Amino acid sequence: MATKSAPANAPAPDTPKRADDSPLTGSGATGAFAVSDLEVCFERKAIKNLHIGVYPPDGRVRVAAPLALSEEAIRLAVVTRLGWIKRRRAEFAAQPRQGERQVHGGESHYVFGQRLRLRVVEGRGAPTFKKRGAWLEAHLRPGLSEEAARRALSAWGRALLREQLAILIEKWSRILGVEVASWSIKQMKTKWGSCNVRARQIWFNLELWKKPLPCIEYLVVHELIHLLERLHSPRFVALLDRHLPSWRALRDQLNAAPLGHDVWNNAPKG
Ligand SMILES: [Zn+2]
Repeated sequence: MATKSAPANAPAPDTPKRADDSPLTGSGATGAFAVSDLEVCFERKAIKNLHIGVYPPDGRVRVAAPLALSEEAIRLAVVTRLGWIKRRRAEFAAQPRQGERQVHGGESHYVFGQRLRLRVVEGRGAPTFKKRGAWLEAHLRPGLSEEAARRALSAWGRALLREQLAILIEKWSRILGVEVASWSIKQMKTKWGSCNVRARQIWFNLELWKKPLPCIEYLVVHELIHLLERLHSPRFVALLDRHLPSWRALRDQLNAAPLGHDVWNNAPKG
């Protein structure tokens, strides 16, 4: 069985559900085993090649394997890539996590890709945030917990993101001639976006408000094109090329961040 997945070819977790949505039941569709000190989860699917993915934030290892592949063969594939897996895990461990940033003044936060220094101003009532030049001004009442400040900042970011997404979705629905039934923003650990083609429903990762707008636009275009083409097929790539020729650079910029490291690398290289 070919195990052609190069290290960079992790499975794209945003691949929409299969058209029939039938779960792979029957014994052995999924499982887990340990290799040295690693826990590895696998899932057998109707795919041709085995893919190994290492996922942020903590370097979880997941394998997607062809239906016919034995657990022993899957284990062997993992063992032969152990060096690469460990390097990826070490990279994740070394990366700063934006989600863990503190909110107490002096530190920096990214808003649409722009790095802002946080300045805390003593305030009353609910926390508010305002962008002022290179500063992010936070009005926080004294004694507000770190956790509450972080939640408030995240809620502020969500509102900013919602505003931009609404504009982009409206713009690109028109250009592509597709209709989105509903979209929402949620916390996701391994993907920037996902699309349920049948329900015409799209989800966006809450963390996106930290990313440059052109990257967010790429993601909107990517997910909307799924409404025309379910898979990351040559047709999908051709549509991206036609409508957003710079998409590869934007994708790479988006994936250069800690979250979603392994996402979308398997889109055909066109
Ligand atoms: Zn996709």
